[in-house]
Amino acid sequence: MKTKINEIFASIQGEGPVVGYKQLFIRFCGCNLKCAYCDTEFNTGMEFTPQELYKKISSEYDLKTFHSISLTGGEPLLSVEFLKEFLPLVQNEVKIYLETNATLFDKIGEIKDNIDIISADIKLKSSTGFDSFALHRKFFENCKDIETFAKVVFDEFITEDEIAKCVELAQDFNLELILQPKMAGDKMTVSSEFCTEILERFTQKHKNTRLIPQVHKFLNVI
Ligand code: SF4
Repeated sequence: MKTKINEIFASIQGEGPVVGYKQLFIRFCGCNLKCAYCDTEFNTGMEFTPQELYKKISSEYDLKTFHSISLTGGEPLLSVEFLKEFLPLVQNEVKIYLETNATLFDKIGEIKDNIDIISADIKLKSSTGFDSFALHRKFFENCKDIETFAKVVFDEFITEDEIAKCVELAQDFNLELILQPKMAGDKMTVSSEFCTEILERFTQKHKNTRLIPQVHKFLNVI
């Protein structure tokens, strides 16, 4: 079985609670969503079998020097059949960190024993044009035993109703919320004052919330 990989690169994680750690990023092709703010090119790539990918990364990188392998995309869970074979090859050498849009709730159950940390997006309709809260709820139900946090990309259109729904999910599933202002290039699309105000509105309802901009854009690394 093969899957298409867009790129493989070593870099610094720029988002969420593991910000600053060195990770080996494996970007999978394809996504099931079309977020308005998406700035990732993930359609072209090379095909690998699980064994070919393992051979490539273990010969080109010193895996023990990485905090974790970041499975990113696109949406890595679209390649779940591939992951079921690939992850057991590598998971004894390095932690596995999954970046996902948290909508493919049936897929996460198939590899939950192979994942150490999940970075799960909560997508806002004001940013994506798509109401995905019901899918997120089913997704979080299926990752109860895995270390999971939820990332919320927001802009000036975030609504009180969306804040309430994010908080409801976070409290029901005991999640830390990471607020991430939408970027245009290396600039935030909202002011620092607005960020502070949004953090305040979240923490009034859910104290376990942090605001972390995309640090890799300030560092000017991929
Ligand atoms: S889920 Fe992520 S990769 Fe997919 S379209 Fe949205 S931002 Fe892009």
